[in-house]
Amino acid sequence: MDIRYEILDLEYVFGDGKQHIFPAVLFGKDDIVLIDCGYSDSLCMLEDQLRIHGIEPETLTKLVLTHQDDDHIGNATELKKKYPAIQVLASLAETPYLSGERKNLRLQQGEELQPHLLEEQKALGEQFCERYRNLDSVQPDVILYGGERFDWGGGCEIIATPGHTPGHISIRSLDNEFLVTGDAAVLEGNKLAVANPEFCMDRKAAEHSLEKITRFHCRHYVCYHGGVLKC
Ligand SMILES: [Zn+2]
Repeated sequence: MDIRYEILDLEYVFGDGKQHIFPAVLFGKDDIVLIDCGYSDSLCMLEDQLRIHGIEPETLTKLVLTHQDDDHIGNATELKKKYPAIQVLASLAETPYLSGERKNLRLQQGEELQPHLLEEQKALGEQFCERYRNLDSVQPDVILYGGERFDWGGGCEIIATPGHTPGHISIRSLDNEFLVTGDAAVLEGNKLAVANPEFCMDRKAAEHSLEKITRFHCRHYVCYHGGVLKC
């Protein structure tokens, strides 16, 4: 059987720690679709990872953004600038935050939190906000409403998984072979969990979304944070 998807592995070094994130690439009849694209200023690493997986970056046709967080959209503008044929897809509710029409919700959250931080946390908090202030806006070409079906990855549908952010989406293969969670679930200790529950825009909704994706009983849950859970 043809390969239906690949998982990239981007490694970021922050201070003395490392963070890995795992964007997915889905193959369709006429499309090669990247799901989320890493932090800003790491396009070279993204391109290298694509090539390591046998994918020439110029063959990408679409970029789906699961939500507005900078680890998911950081390279979007640079990617589109270099490969203008790539169409960007995102949900209706995320679009004004991606396009810059409204202030990014994570930045709003960071700015609201800043005065309440302990003195020793303030510098880090300010760094976080500054990173978001410098984040490039990206205008989606196609708006998703949830429920759309595509032939990517052997056939998939877009599912609304709000909570982490209001318009968060995930991608499920119709035969439940895989589900690309975005941040609707992270993999922690071989279990799916709500990502950073204390920073969810709507925690109840996030818990509900996690339940929803768990109920599909997919064979592979592809988590942007944590990697692949095989069930
Ligand atoms: Zn994330």
